Amino acid sequence: MQQINTQVAIAGAGPVGTVAAYLLAAQGIDVVLLEAGRDCALDLRASTFHPPTLEMLDQFGITEKLIAMGLKAPIYHFRERQTGEVIEFDMSELGDVTRYPYRVQCEQYHLARMLSEGVRELPGTQVLFNHRVLTFEQSPSDVTIYAETPTSIVAIKADFLIAADGANSIVRKWLGTEFDGFTYPEKFLCYTTNEPLERHLPNLAHVNYVSDPKEWMVLLRVPSLWRVLVPAASDQSDEMLLADPKKVDVFDRLLGNGDRVVTGHRTIYRVHQRVAKSFRHNRVLLIGDAAHLNNPIGGFGMNSGIHDAFNLGERLVSIYRHGADADEQLADFDRRRRRTTREFTQAQTIRNLQYLDAGEGGQHALRKREMEETRADPVKRREFLLRQSMIDCLEREKEFA
Ligand SMILES: Cc1cc2nc3c(=O)[nH]c(=O)nc-3n(C[C@H](O)[C@H](O)[C@H](O)COP(=O)(O)OP(=O)(O)OC[C@H]3O[C@@H](n4cnc5c(N)ncnc54)[C@H](O)[C@@H]3O)c2cc1C
Repeated sequence: MQQINTQVAIAGAGPVGTVAAYLLAAQGIDVVLLEAGRDCALDLRASTFHPPTLEMLDQFGITEKLIAMGLKAPIYHFRERQTGEVIEFDMSELGDVTRYPYRVQCEQYHLARMLSEGVRELPGTQVLFNHRVLTFEQSPSDVTIYAETPTSIVAIKADFLIAADGANSIVRKWLGTEFDGFTYPEKFLCYTTNEPLERHLPNLAHVNYVSDPKEWMVLLRVPSLWRVLVPAASDQSDEMLLADPKKVDVFDRLLGNGDRVVTGHRTIYRVHQRVAKSFRHNRVLLIGDAAHLNNPIGGFGMNSGIHDAFNLGERLVSIYRHGADADEQLADFDRRRRRTTREFTQAQTIRNLQYLDAGEGGQHALRKREMEETRADPVKRREFLLRQSMIDCLEREKEFA
């Protein structure tokens, strides 16, 4: 069996695994990045990059490229589907705390592709597509990972294994770590379309969260198209949900011309709120969707995974380059990132979806009034902007004991 030796092996070349790989490789640490697919997945999930993530990625000189490929979105809307009311927030107000007072709307695969190409060019690295991690074993001094290629099994011996292999992480499953939380009963259905929604719905922002007790929506602009996300009944088969009659229904209700709207992708997601009980198991570290899952309202999943990658990557650099104590560093990574995940990402995404899923009765009226008060009050509005742009949670994380 072929054996490769390296310092850090990373499973998964999604946005989170490629960030970890680039950060380490750029600091002269040997990295092997293992990806099951033939290339980085052409994935239509994350499209929002928040200000702290843009600042982190700027260390790689990549933020300007994302901005050039994407759209700057300083303004986002909370809208009422039934009445057309709009509550507008403007991130330009955060210009005194960040160089990037806006979201960048750009599909996640651009980042993964740019970084995996960048990693390849750095010395001491290997980016291995068509290498699916099957299993691993760890000793007190190293980890051996077994990966399947189309023709063989390869063993990779490393000091550390970083699992960035997504929601169904095989590494997390082998660890047997609890992955507590819940799965939303409804499915999430995502369309892309070239239909100019802004012509039908006046004053649309690039990012719109639309509340409704029957069918909430997220309308997101990316450079070449609109993305429309709606909930869908779990008792209908995926086949029915992906078929034309459902598309006609959804766009009839939205625009009144469902049969004429042409869609590109139609994708169904099962959405979860889950956090692994530990992000660290001796020499194996979990980051990104392998470690935690949340609903997409607010655009926090990939961003928080990238924050994991930076937190962990910088600690590994201090272990390798400055002789920092590995146990202390990795325990601290686990403690801080898990606490931020639980207290911010999980809590905020649950609240964000509750707001959209307006429900029947008085509850939504109350939440909407609070949102209007937040919008009107400069102090509350700033707190809200700092929270929803993920600046606040990272500041708090520095203060954790
Ligand atoms: C509809 C929707 C919209 C979203 N929008 C946003 C948003 O705007 N902003 C945001 O921050 N987040 C968003 N998210 C969440 C975001 O997409 C995920 O959090 C993000 O993709 C996680 O990145 P990752 O690298 O951890 O995992 P993934 O992107 O899932 O990448 C994992 C990689 O590992 C590979 N892999 C899997 N198993 C193996 C194996 N055994 N061996 C080797 N490789 C393996 C996979 O092929 C894949 O390339 C959204 C999610 C959904 C569903």
